[in-house]
Amino acid sequence: MTAIDTRTAPPLDTAPVDGAADVHCAGVSKTFAGGTAALRGVDLHCPSGAITVLLGPSGCGKTTLLRCIAGLETPTSGGIRIGDRDVTQTDPRRRQVAMVFQNYGLYPNKTAYGNIEYPLGMARVPKRERRDRVTHIAELLRIDHLLDRKPAQLSGGQRQRVGIGRALVREPAVLLMDEPLSSLDAELRVSMRTEIRTLQRKLRTTMVYVTHDQTEALALADQLVVLRDGRIEHSGGPEDVYGAPATTFVAGFLGAMNLLDAQPLGLPPGTLGIRPEDLLLGEAPGALTLRGPVVDADLIGTERIVHYRCGRETVRIRLRASDPVPEQITAHAPTDRIHRFDPEGNRIGKQP
Ligand code: ATP
Repeated sequence: MTAIDTRTAPPLDTAPVDGAADVHCAGVSKTFAGGTAALRGVDLHCPSGAITVLLGPSGCGKTTLLRCIAGLETPTSGGIRIGDRDVTQTDPRRRQVAMVFQNYGLYPNKTAYGNIEYPLGMARVPKRERRDRVTHIAELLRIDHLLDRKPAQLSGGQRQRVGIGRALVREPAVLLMDEPLSSLDAELRVSMRTEIRTLQRKLRTTMVYVTHDQTEALALADQLVVLRDGRIEHSGGPEDVYGAPATTFVAGFLGAMNLLDAQPLGLPPGTLGIRPEDLLLGEAPGALTLRGPVVDADLIGTERIVHYRCGRETVRIRLRASDPVPEQITAHAPTDRIHRFDPEGNRIGKQP
């Protein structure tokens, strides 16, 4: 995560717009001074009024792409459109985007009210309208009773709501969120993520949301975009990306699929992908059987991920936590639950 201090970032456009706008990135590349190629020809359409989630491992270019859309970075090549305007060279303040950062970036000496109101003051919005807009957003975020507190007197989740409020009060055409929940504890992350989704549904804002947390990505995305090394590896509806990952990288990153070398199993070269939940205990005629000794087990609530050795591979299977962990496992994968990938790691066929 590139730490950004919003207090040094240029003020953003605060004029209300007529609803959300879509975002188009065409062939966006960004090479930093020193030669790091953070983005390599990204083509992306973020539909209006929907949540697009950018997911990928550290350093894959998520934040750089978000900053290019915000105008905080200029692409080395390629173009960006917001609605029907080409904004590639447009000042961030004139893009009608707002950004929420991981570190909140609140002014410590201003109250929650003062923080949310700040961008409206910068835009010389009349005082009375400012009050109405701040009150409205605070009610939506359920922080209206906390408006006279300073950031230090707020919990992490409350501070994050103030940060979101300050972005939303501008009524931006596009709301950009860079790992906004990563500093919250697990329980609060889950409830804040539900709130963000509910709020987005209510306001129909176009949202581009960066995370490296696959659970958060699946829960929030209307469109899920998996990035790797500055390129889009797979994009689509979350069910489609999870259900039929385009590459072994996407399969392994999203949902921790078992990826098995096909040749030792008597098949042509390539990789077989089987999700732990798609392995069933016992054998079945004609089904691929995977058998071996148990080496480890992780409890995850009502289920357990059991690891067992099968030849040179370690296979994961999902079992009920209430059942004892066996010493040996024999399991099979129904043919229609096996994903196939060629030796380059690209998916073969549409369905699993
Ligand atoms: P994380 O999840 O860790 O935040 P990310 O996917 O958001 O990662 P970016 O911050 O976009 O990744 O960085 C992509 C690549 O560009 C990385 O290799 C990073 O080191 C490099 N990079 C980012 N900002 C700069 C910069 N200002 N100057 C030089 N290199 C940079």
